[in-house]
Amino acid sequence: MGGNSVRTAIRLQDVRKSFGRTEAVSGVDLEIRDGEFFSMLGPSGSGKTTVLRMIAGFEAPTGGAIELAGQDVTRLAPFERDVHTVFQDYALFPHMTLEQNVAYPLKIRKVPKAERLARAHKALAEVRLEGYGDRRPAQLSGGQRQRVALARALVGRPRVLLLDEPLGALDLKLREQMQVELKALQREVGITFVFVTHDQEEALTMSDRIAVFNQGRIEQVGTPAEIYERPATPFVASFVGTSNLLTGESAQRIVGAAGTYSIRPEKIRVLKEPAGEEGTAADAGGDAQPEHATATGTVTEVIYLGDATRFLVDLDDGGRLTALQQNLETTSEDVAAYRGTRVRLRWHHRHAVQVPD
Ligand code: ATP
Repeated sequence: MGGNSVRTAIRLQDVRKSFGRTEAVSGVDLEIRDGEFFSMLGPSGSGKTTVLRMIAGFEAPTGGAIELAGQDVTRLAPFERDVHTVFQDYALFPHMTLEQNVAYPLKIRKVPKAERLARAHKALAEVRLEGYGDRRPAQLSGGQRQRVALARALVGRPRVLLLDEPLGALDLKLREQMQVELKALQREVGITFVFVTHDQEEALTMSDRIAVFNQGRIEQVGTPAEIYERPATPFVASFVGTSNLLTGESAQRIVGAAGTYSIRPEKIRVLKEPAGEEGTAADAGGDAQPEHATATGTVTEVIYLGDATRFLVDLDDGGRLTALQQNLETTSEDVAAYRGTRVRLRWHHRHAVQVPD
């Protein structure tokens, strides 16, 4: 195994799981590094929770091996593994104070009372809840309850923290705030976090690396930028970010080569057609330069988003692209006038990224 194994927190080798005739996980290989914020991202039913539960030890794999810090734990019970799981419903004890809730894992391990309390206080302070120790879960907001669950998870200083959609129950604002807090907390404590989510924005915001799941398999593992800018499969290109693919004939005509190409909507400029007329306020318009590709089409839909506008354009050469423009100077009336009009889309060649089929 060599020196490298020290830096690997979790290793999965050809891990499989079937429930009766359902193959939930079909051969997953994965290495998660020590201290990494690692997300498992995928649609509902793609197998990410099952993988998390196998790492925790709540499910036994049908095949393959799981290692934690270089040790084969495939056959070990959950309590024999140096991991802690935070569930979406927090699973706090309602009759206990926060301090008792947080200290509970230490009590199970027979840590002396004085030390237990000191560590519970420290963990509550880490999640910015110092002074709340005497309260009970019912007296807290959703975000605070989530933080208590985190404090309880951190108090025993597990090597790995497993988080199953831990922000799923929170409203959008709180969720965004907790994303930032959780990431900061992870950096501070330096524990490996494995985070399950179906929300691509959440995964992009928080993760050092992401594994994209589809139908029980991993389609790509990479940094947020790699996943977003260099999707390895058409599935990744469409699941992460807005699906914007040129394929077949239209790719041949527009890009000038066969294949499947992903172009992110924010890389595409919308110009009035015929060329020469004034473009959108976000762009001075003008003719295509050699480093740019262009395609003409008709705007079928204009979606005003406040800070930006999304244009759906049916291309003359076949296919449809979405373009996203910041509303730097344009108003909702300006952009609404584009519906049904002829436009020219323009992007830099390097932003048409070939996706392996
Ligand atoms: P979600 O985001 O909805 O939780 P997921 O990607 O986490 O989805 P899993 O929960 O891992 O997906 O489920 C993968 C597949 O395995 C699904 O088809 C699911 O129905 C099936 N499955 C999961 N757990 C069980 C179980 N205990 N018994 C039978 N089938 C199961």
